[in-house]
Amino acid sequence: MTSPKKAAQARPQVDRLARSLKASGLPHPLCVDIAREAIAAGDPDSAPARAEATRRSLLGPVINATGVLLHTNLGRAPHGPAAEDGGGPARYSNLEIDLATGRRGDRTTHAASLMAQLTGAEAALVVNNGAAALLLALAAVAAPRQVIVSRGELVEIGGGFRIPEVLAGSGAQLVEIGTTNRTHLRDYESALAACPSAAAVLKVHPSNYRLTGFTASVDVREVSRLGPPVIADIGSGLLDAATPWIEGGPPAWLSGEPAARQTLADGAALVTFSGDKLLGGPQAGILAGRRDLVDRCRRHPLARALRPGGLVLAELQRTALAYLARDVSGLPFWRMATAPVETLRARAAALSVGEIVDCESVPGGGSVPGAAIPSVGIAMEGDRTAELRALNPPIFARVVDGRTVVDLRTVDPDDDPIVGKALASL
Ligand SMILES: *Cc1c(COP(=O)(O)O)cnc(C)c1O
Repeated sequence: MTSPKKAAQARPQVDRLARSLKASGLPHPLCVDIAREAIAAGDPDSAPARAEATRRSLLGPVINATGVLLHTNLGRAPHGPAAEDGGGPARYSNLEIDLATGRRGDRTTHAASLMAQLTGAEAALVVNNGAAALLLALAAVAAPRQVIVSRGELVEIGGGFRIPEVLAGSGAQLVEIGTTNRTHLRDYESALAACPSAAAVLKVHPSNYRLTGFTASVDVREVSRLGPPVIADIGSGLLDAATPWIEGGPPAWLSGEPAARQTLADGAALVTFSGDKLLGGPQAGILAGRRDLVDRCRRHPLARALRPGGLVLAELQRTALAYLARDVSGLPFWRMATAPVETLRARAAALSVGEIVDCESVPGGGSVPGAAIPSVGIAMEGDRTAELRALNPPIFARVVDGRTVVDLRTVDPDDDPIVGKALASL
């Protein structure tokens, strides 16, 4: 154990060493980890080599001169930007190869290790979507044993995703407790007493609806003290309630949304969430938490059936690196969600068509129900949505109080000229 005094002395050294790794191009938090490891190993001079090894462990393009057209370790069929996008070289990647040894690698390491870092988890795994993440967690951690779930959390998320059916599909047995509106700690306790072989407790964030009135539920922290591992399906993929990537801290509309880092800190053994909701990344599902459980998920036969492709993993890696660099300007979701109202108003004024109105955007995607984000739009009398949809590219707007409102928050500023021209043409 390092004494607190020694640790305090080490901090400036870690910081200095981390900053010296800047040329590696890795985000600062990764450089700090690498510096700490090098110092802990008694070999600070190894830090640059460690940084280079980390950089090379990320997913990236490689040149395939093996003559094997469909090279499994290099991502099988090559991809490249389409000719209409300006072309460019056809790329293979280091999807499943270890650059150091040239031997078979693991596609589950690149983006997943960054997701673990971001959530403070021991390990993480990436699958195709949030539903797959929960299915795999239940199948690998709980089946064929019992899983305890509150009746207030036996929800349908949409698109036929119903918790009892996913549970049945995983091969685990559902033990429902409490009532629709109220579940207490004693409900969990007596279920566990009656069913000591229960493999897990499942907590599901009812993402897309709110239960209000005479209600009670038990939070992850309390349930985690009971013994069995807690699997928490937080759904929306908010990484950290403190949102260090947003200057000025979390916006009001995010309040109450569970975050991966805090849910794990509260004692959840595994969290599952989507890649393309509040994370702002590609369609994917992420499992993060205890290493032994993530490894069980990785080794489960279903994992292969649910694995994502290299293009998704590359995009998820890009998303994770943006968070680690605390610069989400490259993530359209956060760029749009955090655009100041005044910026939107200036854009509306610059278009000089229609009437500038205050309006409200919503997070959507079954995330943060009831939340509204102040926004600015352009309004026209009547329902003009069909005419807007008929344009090329089609424009989708909404009708509020008999007027058509084009909300600029979700329009990329680069598309403003298209919107301006379209509105002028109506
Ligand atoms: C959205 C959601 C899911 C499903 O995730 P997909 O990525 O759409 O498959 C599962 N659970 C919760 C709580 C969700 O909010």
